Amino acid sequence: MQFHNPDADVFVPDAKAPDAALARTTHLCISAHQDDIEIMAYHGIAECFGLSDRWFTGVVVTNGAGSPRSGIYGHYTDEEMQHVRRQEQRTAAYVGGYACMIQLGYPSSAVKDPKSPSVVGDLQAILEAAKPEVVYLHNLADKHETHVATSLRALAALRRLSAQDRPKKVYGCEVWRDLDWLPDEAKQILPASKYPNVAAALVGVFDSQVSGGKRYDLATAGRRLAHATYYASHATDVETAMNFAMDLTPLVADPSLAVAPYVTAYIDSFKADVEKYLSKLMG
Ligand SMILES: [Zn+2]
Repeated sequence: MQFHNPDADVFVPDAKAPDAALARTTHLCISAHQDDIEIMAYHGIAECFGLSDRWFTGVVVTNGAGSPRSGIYGHYTDEEMQHVRRQEQRTAAYVGGYACMIQLGYPSSAVKDPKSPSVVGDLQAILEAAKPEVVYLHNLADKHETHVATSLRALAALRRLSAQDRPKKVYGCEVWRDLDWLPDEAKQILPASKYPNVAAALVGVFDSQVSGGKRYDLATAGRRLAHATYYASHATDVETAMNFAMDLTPLVADPSLAVAPYVTAYIDSFKADVEKYLSKLMG
């Protein structure tokens, strides 16, 4: 498969030919940065882990340039940092037993440009080759601009697929902003309790980010535990870790559906939910 960027990186942990590796995909995540996949889509990784009939593929759109650095990485140039991050992402793919790991290597500015056709074209080619049943994207209320842009480019690619190639389910996942505020009936529950050792390793391998001064390893596990605990006040916890997601499937099933009103309707529901108790209890 040929991508627009000559230095796009394709890594297949079990060394199968890339086309065959991609074709076995059942679960696929498209993220902005190295390490986002392991934070947001552990559900998909765990669903496929160690199985021969389900395979997880990761796609990272940006090149990891401009990331913060300290400690042993403090003196690294942007180019050296990109190399480190690419290797860390390959390591995660190896640990997680991914079908295929693709790093498209775009600068953030290219992803944020709605008129740049190459990002959407690359993503469309990947989706047509992989034909995943389940797709994980950043949620559209994320507070990181590149995350939202990546999700919009991925949605555009998904909307170009023929009806029979579209995934059955598209989740908008948590990284920079969680989804606890979604009304319970709208929350897509993504259990993340299986293989806690693998879950920890997958975030832990991104040493350049964690050593950079952000305990993503602890924060990611903490968020999943908090969600599992606080999700339902009257039930005993069945899951010890979970993520929440926004259902983006309707936006793919109906390419004419307007994106912004679809997302802000969830915010309107949240507002109505808060107002309900306040007006009832204020008397
Ligand atoms: Zn990110």
